[in-house]
Amino acid sequence: MVGGGEGAYIGGIHRFAARLDNHYDLVAGAFDVDAERGHSFASTNFIDRDRSYGDYLAMVAGERTRDDRIDVVAICTPNHTHFPIAKAFLEAGFDVICEKPMTTTVEDAIALHDLAQTTGRFLGVTYTYSGYPMVHEARAMVARGDLGKVRVVQVEYPLEWMATGIELQGNQQAAWRTDPKKNGRGGSIGDIGTHAYHLAGFVSGLKAEAVAADLATFVEGRALDDNAHVMIRYEGGARGLLWSSQVAIGQSNGLRLRVFGEKGSLVWHQEQPNELVFTGLFGAPATIKRGRDDLTDGARIRTRTPPGHPEGYIEAFTNLYSGFAAAIREKESGASAGTFGEGLPSSYDGLKGVAFVDAVVDSHEKHNGGWLSLQFA
Ligand code: NAD
Repeated sequence: MVGGGEGAYIGGIHRFAARLDNHYDLVAGAFDVDAERGHSFASTNFIDRDRSYGDYLAMVAGERTRDDRIDVVAICTPNHTHFPIAKAFLEAGFDVICEKPMTTTVEDAIALHDLAQTTGRFLGVTYTYSGYPMVHEARAMVARGDLGKVRVVQVEYPLEWMATGIELQGNQQAAWRTDPKKNGRGGSIGDIGTHAYHLAGFVSGLKAEAVAADLATFVEGRALDDNAHVMIRYEGGARGLLWSSQVAIGQSNGLRLRVFGEKGSLVWHQEQPNELVFTGLFGAPATIKRGRDDLTDGARIRTRTPPGHPEGYIEAFTNLYSGFAAAIREKESGASAGTFGEGLPSSYDGLKGVAFVDAVVDSHEKHNGGWLSLQFA
C-alpha cells in the first residue's frame, strides 16, 4: 500500500476490503508522506521493518528485486500523486489498484491507461459503488430490458461535510481536496461527481456523449467548486442529470441513482444499499431485497450474509478487491475470473472519469455552461 497511514481515511477501508475474502496479505508499504510516521504506522500493522519504505520510489526499488515481491500495490494517496506512483509501479511490472480520480489531468490519464496496455499490467480503479450487489442487480435488469429503452438517468451525490471552511481549520482531507494542485480542476465534481458519473454509466449501460455544466463555490475563499449541476446527453437520445455537492446540509452520503425507461424505472440509494425499487409501467413500486435466491448471479455472488442481515460499504469495497484478485489471477494463470471479474472499473473507466471532469469544468469556465462533447465515452 502507498498512503493510507495514521489518520488517513480510505486506506483503512482498503485494508478491510483486502482482508475480508482472504485474497490479500498486506506485506509492504510507504504509508505516509512523512517517512517516520509511515514507519511507525507500519510497525503497528506488523509490517516487517525492511518492507516499510520511506517513499514509493524506495518501495518500487526494494520490492522489484525480492523473490517474494508484492503482486499488486494499492494507491491510497491524494489525487495529484496517483499518476507518478501508478506509473512507477506499472513500469516496474507490478499490478495496480488506484484510487479515483485516476489522475488530475486528461494527459496523465491517457498516459496511464496506455501504460497499462503496453506493460500488460492490471490497473483497477476503486469506483466503490459498482461493488454493491444491488447495483449489479440494477445493471442486469437494465441490460435484460426490464425497463425498456432508457430515457432518463438521474444521479445525485450530495454530502454535507464541507458546508463550512473546514479546510482552514485543520481538516486533513478537506485541505488537499480544496487545493487545485493536489485535487485537480474539479472540486465536488472530481471528488464525488466521478463516482456518480461512473455509477450512472455502469447501471444504465449508456455511453455519455456530451455535457453542459453549472458549477458553484458557496464557501467563501474556496478555490474549487463545492456544488455542480451537470446535464448529460447519452447515446441513443437518453438524457441525464448529475448533481454533486459538498455543501448539502443533512446529507451524510446521499448517493442516489434513478433510471427511467419506456417500461419501468429503478431507484437505488447508497444509504439503503440492500434494496432496489422497481416500478413497472402503471404498476406499484416493488422493493427488491439483497440476498434472495431469485436475484441474478452478479448480485448473488457479491452477497455474504442472508437476507435481513444488512451488508454495506465494506462488503461493496471487498467485492471490488475480490474482483481485482480474480482478474489478476486470470492474467497470471489463465483461470477465468468468472462473474466476479465482470464489470470491474478499469483504467479506461478511470480515464473516462478524468475526461468527464475536464469537460464539465471547461463547459462551466470557458463556454458559459454550453454543451461540450466528451472525448472518451
Ligand atoms: P487522506 O488525506 O485521508 O490520506 C492520504 C494519505 O496519503 C495520508 O496517509 C498521507 O500521509 C498519504 N500520502 C500523501 N502523499 C503521499 C506520498 N507521496 N507517498 C505516500 N503516502 C502519501 O486522503 P483520503 O481521503 O484517504 O483520500 C485518498 C484518495 O482516496 C483520494 O484520491 C480520494 O479521492 C480517494 N477516496 C476514494 C474514496 C472511494 O470511495 N473510493 C473515498 C474517499 C477517498
